Order: sequence, then structure tokens, then C-alpha cells
Amino acid sequence: PLVLGIESSCDETGVGIVRGTELLANAVSSSMDEHVRFGGVIPEIASRAHLDALIPTLRSALDTAGVSLDDVDALAVTSGPGLSGALMVGVAAAKALALATGKPLYAINHLVAHVGVGVLDGGALPRSLGALLVSGGHTEILRVDALASDVTLLGATIDDAAGEAYDKVARLLGLGYPGGPAIDRIARGGNPKAIRFPRGLTLPKFMGTADSPGRHRYDFSFSGLKTAVARCVEQYEARGEEIPVADIAASFQEAVVDVVTSKAVLACREQGLENLLLGGGVAANSRLRELLAARCASAGIALRIPRPGLCTDNGAMVAALAAQVVMAGGRPSGIAFGTDSGQPVSAITL
Ligand code: ATP
Ligand code: MG
Ligand code: FE
Repeated sequence: PLVLGIESSCDETGVGIVRGTELLANAVSSSMDEHVRFGGVIPEIASRAHLDALIPTLRSALDTAGVSLDDVDALAVTSGPGLSGALMVGVAAAKALALATGKPLYAINHLVAHVGVGVLDGGALPRSLGALLVSGGHTEILRVDALASDVTLLGATIDDAAGEAYDKVARLLGLGYPGGPAIDRIARGGNPKAIRFPRGLTLPKFMGTADSPGRHRYDFSFSGLKTAVARCVEQYEARGEEIPVADIAASFQEAVVDVVTSKAVLACREQGLENLLLGGGVAANSRLRELLAARCASAGIALRIPRPGLCTDNGAMVAALAAQVVMAGGRPSGIAFGTDSGQPVSAITL
């Protein structure tokens, strides 16, 4: 089926068009530049930017794909999770398009879409699949039994997201926003073992054992790490010493990457999952890719990472998942759904 997908859950306005598992267009407009001076995404600014960008992005996607709205078989939109004002813009636009054209509309879960996008890069997803999602807004481990109907949330951050931690630490180190790419770059010249920063939720009292798992076995926490970096910087300042930015960046990055890779691999092994898909904006991180590839290889897990433009938020991922739902015989959502994670077609079991 020819499917048009709309994404507006955070700071990217995305419209993607796919035919089955073939990518025809992926137009994205980001309001990131407007958030730079605040050091993080401001919901009201993001919502207004979506309003401005939606129609031009839609036109651009249709042009690139060389199709008209008439040709489209189904419409899809991210219904959650995300910033509610931002989601509302995409959802209202999608409902209006559905009403005007009479095309079926599918409400799509953003997290599952980050996994579903995998079909556009490397073909059908394997059975027995786990997913590690790391971005500015979320950090989760999922078990994917059926993309269109059966996805389980195994673990998630209990405070900051991984990308958010990068952004906050980059600010502490005076590296600007967004912080991920800056820390990635400067960490290459630093010693990741210079400072031993805390690995959140890895103590036995949180992890438990395989037979008797603790409440936070597959969960993450990055706010303590952020505080530890802040204390570390303060100590250098109090002593009047120069702050070893590269060593702190490398040591911070190692703490994040060590925990996310080890918990993702642990979850795959314990759940009997032979494949792992990495998604979200932090998937661009070079140390994360390196360590995850090494740990997956030694555990016998096949690792799949969609190309960077498909890992960050985009409309193609929404269209790609909806196409899978259509092909699996899933029913359209109507136009009465809300913008919480609601009753997305691709349900997440909590
Ligand atoms: P969502 O959480 O809904 O996916 P988002 O806009 O917060 O949306 P993305 O656009 O997927 O997230 O990714 C942006 C995040 O990725 C930022 O926090 C940024 O710092 C981080 N990031 C980007 N490149 C890198 C990198 N090379 N290393 C680490 N983090 C990175
Ligand atoms: Mg973004
Ligand atoms: Fe996302």
C-alpha cells in the first residue's frame, strides 16, 4: 500500500511516504534552531513551528514521491507518546486530511514506529527481535513479538532520557546544544577511564537476579549521573583548576553507553531474543555503536541500525509502521482518538 505518515511528537515535523517497505519520500523540518538558546525543546515553540511547517513539509514529500493525495491508500499519524501540543498539530492535520479525502487513518505509537522504520533499511524485520531506543525524549528496551500488534515495554528510564543527559552535561561543560554530537566529538580526545561515574540502576538491589528480577532490572536512570558530573565540575572550579572537559565528556559517555548496551544485551539474552534494533537520535553516537556492536557480537545477537536519517524522528517511520499494520490486516483508527498514547494501533503492553 501507498501510505503517507505524519510525525510531530517533538521538534521534528515529518511527512514520509512509503509503498510497502519502499521509501518514496521523507521530508523533515526541525525547529531545533529555535530551541538552541533555551538549551532544550520548548513545547510551545515546537507546536507553533509544526503549524508553520506542516503544509510545506507535506507538499515537499508529495513532490519528492511524485504522487498526489489521491494516489495514497492510507494516512497515518503519531498519536503519542510525545509533547501534547506538538502531537495535536500533526493529529489535527491528519484527521482533516482523512475527512477531506475519505482515506483510512491509522494512529501510530511513536516508539513502535522507531522500530518499524527498520523495514525501510534492510527489509523485513526478523522474528525474535528486541529494540533499544535512545533519544532526547526516551530511553527504552522493547520486545517485539509482532510489529503490528504485540510489542512489550521491558524497561525505560525512570528520569532523564539518554539524549537529555547528553544535552544537560554538554551545557555543564559549556559545549552548547544539542550536546550529543559535541560530546561525541570531544570525547574522542579524552580518557573514558579518567573518572568513574555512577552506572544508574545497576546495583543488585535494583537488578535482582535472572530468576528473581528486581523492579528496575531493565530500567535506566541518568539524573544521578548528571549530578555527579556537576559535582565533579564544581570541584575543579573550587580548586581553581582547569576543567578536563575531554576526560569528563569521555567518562560521562562511557557511563551512559556502558549501561544502555549492557542492559539491552542482558534483556535480549534473558528474553531469548536473537536480534536487536537500535533507534533514536543517540544511535548516531560513535561509542554507542562501537560498544553495542562488540557486546552483541560476543553474545551472538545480530545488531541492526537503520541509517541515521531514519533513526531521528521522521514521517517515514510512521508511514512504514502503518504499512505493516495495513498488510497485517489492522483496522483504521477512525478520527476519534486522542493524543495521549491512547489506543494506538500498535499497542504497547506495559
Ligand atoms: P524523540 O525523543 O521523540 O525521539 P528528540 O527530538 O528528543 O525526539 P531525536 O531527534 O531522535 O530526539 O535525537 C536528538 C537527541 O539525540 C539529542 O538529545 C541529541 O543530543 C542526541 N544526539 C544526536 N547525536 C548524538 C551523538 N552523536 N551522540 C550522542 N547523542 C546524540
Ligand atoms: Mg528531535
Ligand atoms: Fe523519537
